[in-house]
Order: sequence, then structure tokens, then C-alpha cells
Amino acid sequence: MSQLQQRIEQVIRADVRQMHAYVVQPSAGMVKLDAMENPFRLPPELQRALGERLGAVAINRYPGERLDVLREALARHAGMPDGHALVLGNGSDELISMLAMACRQPGATVLAPVPGFVMYEMSAQLQGMPFVGVPLRPDTFELDERAMLAAIEQHRPALVYIAYPNNPTGNLFDDAVIERIVQAAPGLVVIDEAYQPFSSRSYIDRLARHEHVLLMRTLSKFGLAGVRLGYMMGRRELIEEIDKVRPPYNVSVLNCEAALFALEHDDEFARQARILRDERQRLIEALQALPGVRPYPSEANMVLVKVPDARRTYEGMKARKVLVKHMGGGSPLLANCLRLTVGSPEENDLMIAALRDSL
Ligand code: PMP
Repeated sequence: MSQLQQRIEQVIRADVRQMHAYVVQPSAGMVKLDAMENPFRLPPELQRALGERLGAVAINRYPGERLDVLREALARHAGMPDGHALVLGNGSDELISMLAMACRQPGATVLAPVPGFVMYEMSAQLQGMPFVGVPLRPDTFELDERAMLAAIEQHRPALVYIAYPNNPTGNLFDDAVIERIVQAAPGLVVIDEAYQPFSSRSYIDRLARHEHVLLMRTLSKFGLAGVRLGYMMGRRELIEEIDKVRPPYNVSVLNCEAALFALEHDDEFARQARILRDERQRLIEALQALPGVRPYPSEANMVLVKVPDARRTYEGMKARKVLVKHMGGGSPLLANCLRLTVGSPEENDLMIAALRDSL
């Protein structure tokens, strides 16, 4: 063993050494429909205006008061209730890490329905916190209320995550069940609305009812995945505590200015979201017409679909230059499932044809 290897083994945690770094699949030359990105670029005149705005930013200074302007703009955009505050993250991924960091202590656990967004578990694991995954109901992917309440009673989790809509299943959970989970949770409940631009419901109007609920959103699915900006709203006292573990200057001056620009032009992003919602419906109908293919209902910019042989279909689609997400290897509930991001009308046509030819 080399000296460096020995040093690595002494210093780097064994569980970290066993992990794999997050891999972004190579996608050059492919129709990229694996990561719930918005397929639309900005119209050329807006892209130019954005370039001018970013060109005028003083990059020699650390981020400062401009972030206050961004927080206010986001609070207005979201309709944040009085008495609440907002913390920014470099994507909501960072907020999820911050939450685990702030809540880690002996006995503290993180609980979420599974299948769900992988970062809930990964952030817990990295902080050495046990993660409790409670299976969704097979087929409907609804919350299993009894199992959730029993797990909450047993583990008394510090953090409960509810993605609303859920990734990778795309559905909104039953509101009455969420309410009872919120009431039963002894710690914090995070409602993750990453897919809010495509959803018919939001938790925002219920946020003020519960002082232990945090509402998390991101600009990624809105159309700014490359910008990296997430935000989380909650009672001021609570947000102030979480803000203490935020790395200083976590949101760059460029992220900040690009996000402000996007909010000033939110009508354009709303227009894009409308197209994607219509496309989602068209995609679901096209998939329903294919024999042996079962798309699940979705309120997000993705559609989970069951096919006879997901590995074969995934590989066939890849060979036809369409990249989607194969859900194999995860939850048994997702056997033979692919997760399709809703793309532009042209991309969706290519995806449907590639899927049909790869069954
Ligand atoms: N929450 C959910 C439910 C997600 O699916 C994702 C990304 N796929 C995120 C949060 C993270 O988003 P980001 O870090 O890009 O803000």
C-alpha cells in the first residue's frame, strides 16, 4: 500500500471510502431527459439581457446585501407568510445537508417515505444519522399512513421529509395524511416543493399553521438548474438556527443576480412550465397507448413508467441517443420502472419513438 493510501485510510472515514461520488451521466449528443431539467433556453433577447446583467456584477467582492434583495424577491414570489424567514442554499441539496448538520446528535434520526429523493438519506448518512425509509404503498405510491405514524412513534425523528410532489414517483400525497403526519412529528417536517412549478397544489397556504414545518423550494426545475439556488422558508426563530450552519458566502454573486433576473422574468418561466404541463399530459397519453407500458399520474416534470423489461428499454433508448433514468437497483416498488423527464415537444416525440422501439 502506498504511503498516500495509508494516509487516506487513517484519515478518511471508512464509510466515506466505501461511497461513490455522484456521477453525472455523459450526455453529449443525446436527448437528455434523465434529470428533470427544463429543456428550454431563454429566448435570445433575454439571454443577452442576462449576459449584460451578469457582466456588470462585481465579482471581486464577496456576496453581500444583494442577497437580501433576492431573499425578499423570493419571499414575494412564493407568498411567504408573516413571521417567517428564508434561508438560501446552493441548490436545495445544500439545504438538505445543512438540516442534517444542524440536527445531528445522538439518537436523532431522519425519516422519509421511500422511494424518495436520495439526498435525504445521503445527507443523514454523511452526518452519521440513522435514516428510516418507510415504503410507499405499492402501485399508487401513496403514503402508508399507518406505517408512517408507527415509524414516527418508534423513532421520534428529528427530521421528516415529504416531497410534494414526490421524486421519482411524480405524485402529490394525500393532504389529510400529510396533516396527520405533521401533527404526529415530534421534530421538524420539511415539505420539499422542488416540483412546485408543475404541480396543481402547494403547501404554502398551510405553512403558517404549523411552527415546526419548513417549506423548501428550488429554482432548478423552474428553469435554472445550472444556477444552483434553493431556498427554505419557516418560522423566523427556526430559520435563524439553521442559518448558523450555512457556509458563509454559499450563494455566489452570479447565482444571486441570475436568480433575480429570472424572478423579474417569471412570466417567461411560467409560460415554459405551462408547455411542459401540457407535454406531460401528451406524453402520458402516448405511453398509455403502448402495449405493456404503464405510466403513473404525475404532478411534476417527470413521468414514472413501468415497462416489461426496464433494463432492455433503457439500453435500447440509450442506443437511440435518448437518455432517461433507469430506476433499477433501488426500491423493489420501482421494479421495471424508468423515470422520464418531460422535455420539449420535439424531444418528447424522440423519446416516445425510442421507447416504443426499445420495448
Ligand atoms: N428535492 C427534490 C425532490 C429533488 O428531486 C431535487 C433534485 N432532483 C432536489 C430537491 C434538489 O434540487 P437542487 O439541488 O437542484 O435545488
